[in-house]
Amino acid sequence: MKKFKPINIMDNKGFWPEKASLLDAIKDILATGHCESRFPVKDFGRFRSPQWRDEENVLVPWQSVDWYIYDSLDEDRMQVNGASLLRNLANEPWRDERLLGDHYDLFIIEEDLFLPDKEGKGPGYCVGVCRPSFAAVVSSHRIEHIWGMPYSVTKTEIMRQICFMLGVPSHLRDDVSKGPDATAFCHNTCILREARDAPEHWEKLTEDRLKEGALCNSCMDDLRKFFSGRSHKDN
Ligand SMILES: [Zn+2]
Repeated sequence: MKKFKPINIMDNKGFWPEKASLLDAIKDILATGHCESRFPVKDFGRFRSPQWRDEENVLVPWQSVDWYIYDSLDEDRMQVNGASLLRNLANEPWRDERLLGDHYDLFIIEEDLFLPDKEGKGPGYCVGVCRPSFAAVVSSHRIEHIWGMPYSVTKTEIMRQICFMLGVPSHLRDDVSKGPDATAFCHNTCILREARDAPEHWEKLTEDRLKEGALCNSCMDDLRKFFSGRSHKDN
């Protein structure tokens, strides 16, 4: 599978101050990973194609950020179903080589997000979700609107989801445990730890990031391997 493919960014707020934390998060990841070449990052903003609504004013599939949200919205919960949104992003027609071709999608949304949970034990919401090698979604709803936390926390979560999307940390390490949907969580003092209890865990991750740096040595190593094109197995 191709690893060096563009990161396409989308958001559904148009111009907004949180955009700075998003761009900042990407810059930090590239610097931490010692990415020397120009990694392609394309900003689609609040994407709406010229044909995003039909004559009846109905949203046309795949043609706008509005449709992606609408199609995955659980109207009873008034939350966006993260699994469905990731599935749409991973299977979108834009991935066809004659259109955009293969890429990563990083989508920042304002709506509340959840992952369906058969046992009903989950917290009933999530802040970010990811499908490694394809896409990540971060919701600003809890962080900013419910918990009233600063942008540095949004940045922490965006950095986490970018790493998970790029396959960091590596599953092959002993100091990681399995997360949902093929992601892995690091066990060290590192933003790639599991975060569950809100808002305390995100506060702590951000505090550690600012004090000790974002990634532990092993995760930093994994990220640098990613950008140098080597795999964990090459060791
Ligand atoms: Zn780590």
